[in-house]
Amino acid sequence: MENKVALITGASSGIGRSTAEAFAAKGVNVVVAARRKEELDSLVASIEAKGGKASAIATDVSKSKDVEDMVAHTIKTFGRLDYAVNNAGIEGTIAPITELSEDDWDKVMNINLKGIFLCMKYQAKAMVKNGNSGAIVNVGSVNSFLGFHSGAAYVTSKHGLVGLTSSVSAELAPQGIRVNLLCPGITITPMHHRIRNLIGDEVYDQGIIPKVHLQRAGLPIEMAKSILFLCSDESSYISGSTLTVDGGLTLTM
Ligand code: NDP
Repeated sequence: MENKVALITGASSGIGRSTAEAFAAKGVNVVVAARRKEELDSLVASIEAKGGKASAIATDVSKSKDVEDMVAHTIKTFGRLDYAVNNAGIEGTIAPITELSEDDWDKVMNINLKGIFLCMKYQAKAMVKNGNSGAIVNVGSVNSFLGFHSGAAYVTSKHGLVGLTSSVSAELAPQGIRVNLLCPGITITPMHHRIRNLIGDEVYDQGIIPKVHLQRAGLPIEMAKSILFLCSDESSYISGSTLTVDGGLTLTM
């Protein structure tokens, strides 16, 4: 992977930040994108302090122009694009369908689903134009397969990524670009803490964690390692697939 180039969205926090650090530790040049530029700048500084190469660009993945600029920035800065990790996502408003506003619904769809469509559209163009092979990893969720009470918008957006990923794999894999969906289980990040605050410690500690075969939540670095696997040649025959990294949560009742 050394001297290759990775673009990671949602890199200002949680799984995205950890993924950027893991790529940089492998000698990959990274472009980190999210809306909060100051968080990205501190990540770039910390990667550079360890001898890595990184560049930040403020991006809202729900905006076409931002996404086009993000990919152009990657090519301008490092000359190519080998790996794209489309991780940016929000939990949105957790509310019963009767209380969910149209704006709440649109916001989640625009970031979690349309955002990944836009990212792949411009990333694929850059990868094909450069004539290089590549790998794209989209980040779904265990909620790409399971519903949850009051989570209609989030769950629908994450289910949509299964079809988006497999369809785009059929288009891009023949051109040397593999496309897969990583589906994390409970992972300790700021998003996790927000949801934990909302639904309560008891629901997590007594309801959900005992169902995880490994009896614990996952760490961002454990998702990052799986994302690196899906980008690396070690996964050369995997495309259009989902990889569920949930410690066994979704496998038993
Ligand atoms: P965090 O809330 O910690 O991080 C989310 C990241 O997405 C932030 O960097 C945020 O940056 C970025 N982001 C949000 N909206 C936008 C936007 N419009 N444009 C660009 N970037 C945006 O969450 P996690 O690290 O936990 O989540 C990462 C992914 O993993 C998400 O897709 C999430 O759905 C998924 N996931 C997480 C699980 C968990 O338990 N943590 C479980 C299953 C899936 P900024 O605010 O600066 O824009």
